[in-house]
Amino acid sequence: MHTLGRAAPKSLLLEGGNPVQRLALGRFWAARLNCPDSHPPCGQCRTCMQIEDDVFRDLILLNGAEGSLVIDEIRAVRALMNEPPAGPGMRVVVLAEAQFLTDKAANALLKSLEEPGPGNVFALLAPSREILLPTLVSRSFVLTLSWPTTSTADAERDQWSAALARFIQTGQGAWLEQTGKKGAVDAALGYGIIQDAQRALLQAGYGNPITELARVFAQRLDVVSIRQASVILENATKSLDAGANPAVVVEWLGFRLWGLVQK
Ligand SMILES: [Zn+2]
Repeated sequence: MHTLGRAAPKSLLLEGGNPVQRLALGRFWAARLNCPDSHPPCGQCRTCMQIEDDVFRDLILLNGAEGSLVIDEIRAVRALMNEPPAGPGMRVVVLAEAQFLTDKAANALLKSLEEPGPGNVFALLAPSREILLPTLVSRSFVLTLSWPTTSTADAERDQWSAALARFIQTGQGAWLEQTGKKGAVDAALGYGIIQDAQRALLQAGYGNPITELARVFAQRLDVVSIRQASVILENATKSLDAGANPAVVVEWLGFRLWGLVQK
C-alpha cells in the first residue's frame, strides 16, 4: 500500500476482511495520501486525527450499509470530483460497502471512476469483487485483505475443540489424554483453545451454532449458564496471563465447563 501511494490509482478496490477492517484501511489510504509528515502516515498529526474522526475535508465517506450509495449522493460526489481538493493532498472518496450501490448510482459513477478530476481518487470497499458490477471492478486496482485461512495450527485447535466438546458431554474422550501429555499445551495453544470456546459460546448465544462445541453449548446451556461459562473462560485467560501452566489451565477449564453442562 505504501508503494501504491506513490502513484495512487484513480480507483482502488479493497476487498476481503470484515466491514470494520475495510473501513480502517479506507481511512488509512486517505491518511497515506494526505499526511504531510511521513510515509507511512504518522497517525498523530492534525490531518491523521481529522481523518480518524471523519472530519477531514478531503475525505468523503459514503457507506452503502447506511443507504448512502444512491444516485443523488453519487451525483453530488461527481460534481465535487471535478474540483481540485481543498488541501495540499488528495481528495479521497471512500465508497464503503460498495455492493449496495444501486445500478443507477453505479452507472453514474463509471465515468468519474475513469476520469476523476486531478487530485481526486476513489476507494471502493466490498467483501469481494464478485458481488460488484464487473464494470466497476474492471476500472479499479484491486487489493485483497488477507482472508481467514486454515493453517495447521487451526486444524490442531479444531481437534482440541472437538475433544473438549465430547469431554463436557460425557466426561470422557481424548481430552484428558491430550491435556495430560507432557508439553502438549503451550500458552499459544491455551489461548487458542479459550478463544475457540469463546467463539463457540457467542455462536450458541446468538442461536447460530456452527462448531460441535457451539452445538453442545447451545443444547446444554441456558442464558444464565452461558454467562457463567463466559466468566470461566475469562478466568482461564487471566490465569494464562499470569503465567500459569497452560496444560493445567486448559484441564481446569474442561472440568469447569463439564460441571456446568452436567447441572
Ligand atoms: Zn499524519
